[in-house]
Amino acid sequence: MMPDLDGFEVCRQLKQNLQTHDIPIIFLTARVEQEDIIKGFELGAVDYVTKPFNHKELISRVRTHIELKAAREALALKIEELQQANITKEKLLSIISHDLVNLFNSLMNFSLLLTESEELSVEQQNKYLLMISQSSNQGYHLLKNLLDWLRNQTGKIQVIPVSVNLKWLIERNIEFLSSQAKNKNITLCSTVESATTVFADQNMLDTVIRNLLANAIKFTPNFGKVEITSQQQASMMELSVLDTGIGIKPEDIQRIFQGRYYTTMGTGNEKGTGIGLNLCKEFVEKNGGNIGVESEIGKGSRFYVHLPLPT
Ligand code: ADP
Repeated sequence: MMPDLDGFEVCRQLKQNLQTHDIPIIFLTARVEQEDIIKGFELGAVDYVTKPFNHKELISRVRTHIELKAAREALALKIEELQQANITKEKLLSIISHDLVNLFNSLMNFSLLLTESEELSVEQQNKYLLMISQSSNQGYHLLKNLLDWLRNQTGKIQVIPVSVNLKWLIERNIEFLSSQAKNKNITLCSTVESATTVFADQNMLDTVIRNLLANAIKFTPNFGKVEITSQQQASMMELSVLDTGIGIKPEDIQRIFQGRYYTTMGTGNEKGTGIGLNLCKEFVEKNGGNIGVESEIGKGSRFYVHLPLPT
């Protein structure tokens, strides 16, 4: 009954505004016509009290609606958690049933070829041994990612930052990925100096470096180059993984860190799971840093990570 702006209009405007949309609205009014009451509910009101009113009753109704709202929100949160748990379970099942089973198949087949076939040339033996070495490395990388991802999803991961020597960690990963790079004739190198240190959780940083290097190799064609460099910037250390690979389209850059398991095949038809970069982003951010990428189609990509320095 107010002039200019009546209660119905106030309700409509509050419901349209994202910031006030969820506030439960109770109409307190002298209008007792059924049509008005229905109109109020249709506009999104949760209750309707007519004048003259009883203070205690009104306060009880307000309390009830606040409790109802809190219960509804808690329920929505639970539903979201359950949906996330379901997605995690499905993803886990798909990785175990496809990726891990395939890797074991290839390990078994090449081992069988080596042990059962007579008169294998040294060249063939070396080829099968390289396949076994590659499959076991891929399996290890996949299992490590899977465990990190599961621990992270279930909130069972602790960040223990220490002073980490980057050169040492990078060289360990270069050695681990050398057979993958060799198989594609990719030059894999680091220009990080021996005294370069950051303040981060060593296991998490290991996962980040391994994933960025493995991706760079995976998305670079034969005879390309993958290089890892570092540069100190104010209070942070910038670590870059540069490749001469296929690059990423601008619209896909938005998607790769988003946690929706976006994945494409590598240049040698290598399969992926889409969990690597999500893990990298989570781990870098948990250590007070940030991650990003610059890329040009057909030329290559530079994934960069900024991490705090030891104090
Ligand atoms: P996966 O490598 O298992 O697919 P990631 O989360 O590590 O999962 O990467 C997601 C996707 O991002 C890749 O499938 C690929 O499409 C893209 N990507 C990641 N690194 C590179 C890179 N260095 N060059 C081109 N594309 C990349």
